[in-house]
Amino acid sequence: MLGSRFFWKLYASYAVLVVLAVSVVGVLTSRRVGQDLLESVERSLSNRATLLAEVAVPALAGVGGDRLQDRVEQLGRDTRTRYTVIRLDGTVIADSEENPSGMDDHGSRPEVLDARQEGRGVSTRFSRTVAASMMYVAVAVRRDGRELGFVRAALPLTAVRQRTAAVQENVLLGGLLAALIALAIGLFVTRRITAPLASMTVAAEAISRGDYQHRVRGGSNDEIGTLASAFNRMAVQLERRMETITEDRSKLLTILGGMVEGVVAVDRDQAIVHLNAAAGRILGVSPERSLGRPIWEVTRVRQVSEAIAHTLTEAGEVTEEVALEVSNQERIVQLHGARLDNGGGGHVGAVLVLHDVTELRRLERVRRDFVANVSHELKTPITAIRGLVDTIIDDQEMPLTVRTDFLRKAQNQAVRLSLLVTDLLTLARLESADGIVEPERLDAREVVGRSVANFRPAAEARHLTLDVDMPQEPVPVLGDPEALELLVNNLLDNAVKYTGEGGQVNVRLASAEGMAWLEVADDGVGISPEHHDRIFERFYRVDQARSRELGGTGLGLSIVKHICKAHHGTISVRSTLGVGSTFEVVLPLA
Ligand code: ADP
Repeated sequence: MLGSRFFWKLYASYAVLVVLAVSVVGVLTSRRVGQDLLESVERSLSNRATLLAEVAVPALAGVGGDRLQDRVEQLGRDTRTRYTVIRLDGTVIADSEENPSGMDDHGSRPEVLDARQEGRGVSTRFSRTVAASMMYVAVAVRRDGRELGFVRAALPLTAVRQRTAAVQENVLLGGLLAALIALAIGLFVTRRITAPLASMTVAAEAISRGDYQHRVRGGSNDEIGTLASAFNRMAVQLERRMETITEDRSKLLTILGGMVEGVVAVDRDQAIVHLNAAAGRILGVSPERSLGRPIWEVTRVRQVSEAIAHTLTEAGEVTEEVALEVSNQERIVQLHGARLDNGGGGHVGAVLVLHDVTELRRLERVRRDFVANVSHELKTPITAIRGLVDTIIDDQEMPLTVRTDFLRKAQNQAVRLSLLVTDLLTLARLESADGIVEPERLDAREVVGRSVANFRPAAEARHLTLDVDMPQEPVPVLGDPEALELLVNNLLDNAVKYTGEGGQVNVRLASAEGMAWLEVADDGVGISPEHHDRIFERFYRVDQARSRELGGTGLGLSIVKHICKAHHGTISVRSTLGVGSTFEVVLPLA
């Protein structure tokens, strides 16, 4: 606080005032006292001269007064005053300190000249006779209206000067003491005034550093106390506002952080103000390291920096869909840019929302392809049936054997159509939420046993060996029995279909590591590696013609995959072209 400039300004002004006031009072007082002393000396000399005048009248009038010199000397000794009796012509006839006969003409002395004029004269000067500064007071002596001469009383001023000096000394000492006391009080008062200000400064600095809990200790009822409480109220408000802002900010950051869409906010110079986690993922950059850097430096994706530049300079809104190449992966991203208005017609930057629609577009494509495939798949048998039926109707003369053959072909196509529709319905049911009925606890051995029994006649018809290997104890799984049977049926159907006459099909069920393992292996045509991933797609067939000829719909493995997924399981294939295939399903045990 002693270092505070305000303190010293206040205290210095106060000190100057005190010193000035004490000096003025001191000087005026000592001058007044000096004057008073001189005036009282003058009055007393005047009185003494007047008294002596009575005594000197006879001598001055020339009617006696022989002993005047003695009386004057006596009076001079008694009153320690010099007396001089002067005739009208200036001759000294008596003097208390000198022999009058040796004294020169006193008629021209200033006090005497004044007394001659006005009856009384005063003069202060240095007397060579007594070698000291003296005050002379002369009065005219009159009798019956006639001027007779003058009586003069004089005193050395040394005593007066000494008393004046003593008084001045006292005034000086008193003034000094008063000034010291006043300065000490001033120090205390100034400190009381500036201390709250200093503590307010400390508090303001603390608040500006972010310590919003800092308060000023006030207490006094004056304006400074009021200021301190106003300051504290302001600090409370500020603390609350900051809390709200921090809360809002963290809410906003949480929302932005949790968003699937990428959000990039930049200032007017395109420097990044915020980049959320999703934007970091889409653009392949680190949100932390992007802050404060210009967008074109952070990402090399040209379309993004262009969209931002466009948003900032042009109309303010940009919406476009672009294909971005990030970490060697093509992604389709919808960009939506908008300017951040400052509320006064201008803008403070821009925000760009990045919506990764790659998956959406892929699904759209899959759905489109699917519809096209379904239409095509449905159209083929319908066209065939129409052709056959039309021919039969048109050709009345057709031999019975041909007609029967045509009808059988039409029947086959109708069966195929029915299989296709059944598979499509199954797939649709599996894809919808209620695809799997309430799962129940069942023994996988029973499901596999039923399915194998279904296919035994078909296998025998093709002279295939169908071997089954199942454990002694039950293999409990949680699932939909019909769906699981359909799963095994489809795998067995394929194994039987794609294995030549006299081949071998092995079905193996086992439980290990909390999982049920089902393997359907054949030594049939096999599948070359490039098809392994795709055979689970809808309508994907390695060999279109063969599949159709064998009555396949191209949906079997797709259904298998969906059933596996619905039961939290997986399906995989190991296969070598011309050697055989093994499909492996793994489901969690109940
Ligand atoms: P499809 O009705 O044509 O059999 P799937 O979805 O069941 O349709 O199978 C897709 C394709 O995978 C089949 O067209 C076939 O080319 C191939 N495939 C499936 N299972 C086998 C298998 N056991 N051996 C050889 N190829 C198979």
